[in-house]
Amino acid sequence: MSAIEQVEGIGSVPHGYYRREQALTGVVLLPGQERHDTGEHPENARRLPGVVQRLRASADWERLFVMHPRHARVEELVRSHDTRYVESVRRADRDGPVWLDTDTKAGPGSFDLATLATGAALTAVDAVAMEAYWRPDSLFCLTRPPGHHAPADRAMGFCLFNHVSVAARYAQATYPIERVAIVDWDVHHGNGTQEIHYDDPSVLFCSLHQWPLYPGTGWLEETGEGAGAGFNANVPMPPGSGDREYLEALDAVVLPLLDAYDPQLLIVSAGQDCHAADPLSNQLVSAAGFRAMAERMAAFASGRKIGLVVVHEGGYNVSTLPQVDHAILGGLGSFATDLEDPFAADAPPAEGWPERLAEVRRAIGRHWPEVR
Ligand SMILES: [Zn+2]
Repeated sequence: MSAIEQVEGIGSVPHGYYRREQALTGVVLLPGQERHDTGEHPENARRLPGVVQRLRASADWERLFVMHPRHARVEELVRSHDTRYVESVRRADRDGPVWLDTDTKAGPGSFDLATLATGAALTAVDAVAMEAYWRPDSLFCLTRPPGHHAPADRAMGFCLFNHVSVAARYAQATYPIERVAIVDWDVHHGNGTQEIHYDDPSVLFCSLHQWPLYPGTGWLEETGEGAGAGFNANVPMPPGSGDREYLEALDAVVLPLLDAYDPQLLIVSAGQDCHAADPLSNQLVSAAGFRAMAERMAAFASGRKIGLVVVHEGGYNVSTLPQVDHAILGGLGSFATDLEDPFAADAPPAEGWPERLAEVRRAIGRHWPEVR
């Protein structure tokens, strides 16, 4: 069989013109992360350099599609954020440092780095939408600060701009893409993304998060409103959930929902703070679990011949994050990585999970019979 195979049925999606035998994945890097200086804070400039160092030192670096981002422009940010809020972050850049909420600091350099982090997601959208043989099937944006807690009008929970939301609207404004799905596996609920798209049927938002935990939103009854009713899906995971529960949530809820929604672009808010060694949660997902989640997202996107953009959100254990993020890339690109995760001990079943899963299916199943 030839390495290049022409694929039919592209329709209006500018994607998948050629299909390689091996998936091509890669990273969008973020230079100068110390520009957003948060000091002794869990979300700091020391989180991600170790990830890039590990990738560069591994033989897998050669197979990765490596990109550098552009900045997101103000006119792109304001598709998801209020102009006045965007200006307030820019002012903090000039006059800061200031605390924009109790957890979120901005100072000189923050606007520059945050707009570059959002720009990384836009760069990734452009790349996976290319019609070229060397188009990557997926890209993982190794970016900070995270974005999914930021609603339209304020900073929140370490987040300044909502990268995945701005990327979804950029894709819709730039390409013949109408429906975008965002899957969020960060251990915290992606309240900002939910809030921005709550009445928006053109973006399906589906979040897996520990319940109860910060920020306190994301109960299963929050399913969207108005034209967006049914297009917001929450899977509140009990504390102690590990690979078994997360993969079951993807298989029983998220994938049937994606199948039914039929998105033309898939974006993942990838927060690795549900890892067993993360200091901010009680979840027990292992590196192998992250790999398996990434594999499922990649298999869905490649089955639909749509692009996959993965954006880094949380993940606060700097010792384990390199292995976990490497495992995610292995899942996206179907290559083996070291999965000797010292925290991968066989976790006991999470208490109350079967009942919770049944409740979630009932709540989402009211709008999507495929999930019942
Ligand atoms: Zn988080």
